[in-house]
Amino acid sequence: MKLGFIGLGIMGSAMANNLLKSGFRLNIYNRSKEKVKDLTSDNYEFFDNPKSLAQNSDIIFLMLSNDEACESVASSNNGLLEGLSSDKTVVNFSTVSPYYSQKLCDEVHKKNALFLEAPVVGSKIPAQNATLIILCAGDKKAYDTATHYFEKLSKRVFYLDTVPNASYLKIVNNQVMGITMQALAEGLQLAKKLNLDLNVVLDLLNSGAFANSMFDLKGKNILNSNYNAHFPYEHMQKDLGFAVKLSEDKKAFCPALSIVNETYKKGLSLYSKEDMCAIFELLNS
Ligand code: NAP
Repeated sequence: MKLGFIGLGIMGSAMANNLLKSGFRLNIYNRSKEKVKDLTSDNYEFFDNPKSLAQNSDIIFLMLSNDEACESVASSNNGLLEGLSSDKTVVNFSTVSPYYSQKLCDEVHKKNALFLEAPVVGSKIPAQNATLIILCAGDKKAYDTATHYFEKLSKRVFYLDTVPNASYLKIVNNQVMGITMQALAEGLQLAKKLNLDLNVVLDLLNSGAFANSMFDLKGKNILNSNYNAHFPYEHMQKDLGFAVKLSEDKKAFCPALSIVNETYKKGLSLYSKEDMCAIFELLNS
């Protein structure tokens, strides 16, 4: 089975490296070619466009920013769709809107190829440690093929039958995460104004009933003013935007979600490439 991997950002480079580490040769494409410097093995071939990569691969993994990035890779001249045929499988790890995921699924099916949406839970470190959680939906045959590779990337896989169920689940996950992130940032802001020792605040939060690994990691990073992106701020806002749209479309009353989305939007021009925990700095300003 020949593997193609498109997208060498924070997550894609870590995931591609785990496939390389597992002994698989990869066909690689990334918009910016210089990102191959992040690959830890030279057991790959770089292709100049997604079409030629797809023509030379049986299964093509995508890990790209958003709907626009996937659309550009899929549908541009010399794009992925042009290189597909009935024997190919496309697995999209990117977090995209459920509307776009359905569209991409339909376009792949028009080429008689198989499709799996497979957004992941877990950030840069789980991607590096191969402890992601993969949420997938789509063709069962594609799932059966991809499972072998998912094992090299993840600690758990959920299969949810039809597209866009996996996108829905991922967006709900990030709705809760974004609200929780802002709750932590706001708590630390008030604690700062009260002259509390923020280390003590984190110690308490990490000892109580709602202790979680995000409070621990992001809390420490906030205290150290370390906003190097693990999960970029702009992607957090993107996913909150997807959740807001879904809550409106499905008439789910989610007031906290709307407020947190508006807060994240306010900081986009300043913090888009920083980590999502830079929300603390926005509240500080
Ligand atoms: P990233 O570091 O920003 O990387 C984005 C990738 O998309 C890069 O390969 C970039 O290419 C490519 N790209 C962007 N716009 C493009 C365009 N118009 N045409 C072609 N390629 C384009 O993002 P990431 O953090 O790896 O995240 C990737 C996806 O995983 C996102 O959907 C994100 O929401 C999701 N996710 C991220 C995390 C996390 O913690 N980081 C966790 C779970 C899920 P260039 O190198 O040329 O810019």
